[in-house]
Amino acid sequence: MPVWLEREEALVRIRREGGDFACLMCALRDGVFGAPFLLHEDARALVLLPRYIRRWGHVLVMLREHRTSFEGLGEADWLHMAGLAYRAARVVESSLKPLRCYVASTGSSGGELVQSSRHMHLHVLPITDPDDRPARVFSWSEGIAVGSDEEMKALLEGYRGPWSRQGELSGVGA
Ligand SMILES: [Zn+2]
Repeated sequence: MPVWLEREEALVRIRREGGDFACLMCALRDGVFGAPFLLHEDARALVLLPRYIRRWGHVLVMLREHRTSFEGLGEADWLHMAGLAYRAARVVESSLKPLRCYVASTGSSGGELVQSSRHMHLHVLPITDPDDRPARVFSWSEGIAVGSDEEMKALLEGYRGPWSRQGELSGVGA
């Protein structure tokens, strides 16, 4: 299972891995951390499994272009991201059977941080603890989990079949 790290320990580790850059999302898109665990990509967006996660099974939908506000985001791009998040949430539900699946556009209001980005993205997060609340789930205060390469690859492979099937059903991002 993924290893849990304290917040400060995780930040040190991410910086050591080269995680201090102008934009976290652009760096993920460009494979600065090595090949991303990519579930889907198209002309507008990418769907990937982030390495540092708050809950196991976490999926990230990100816009390919660097856009940092809804005013700077075209409606078609937003609807495309929302469609991909819908598809990802259905994949997470069918694969992991969580109690709930949170979908949220969060991001940083304090500029670009080591692990929070202004670049538009959506989180898809499976919830398995009935006591979990958004304030806990979307915070690093209780630490962060990181999976091994093998665990991440296994999760990604497990998502691939449902991802294809959901694409056929919904036609989103197909
Ligand atoms: Zn960016």
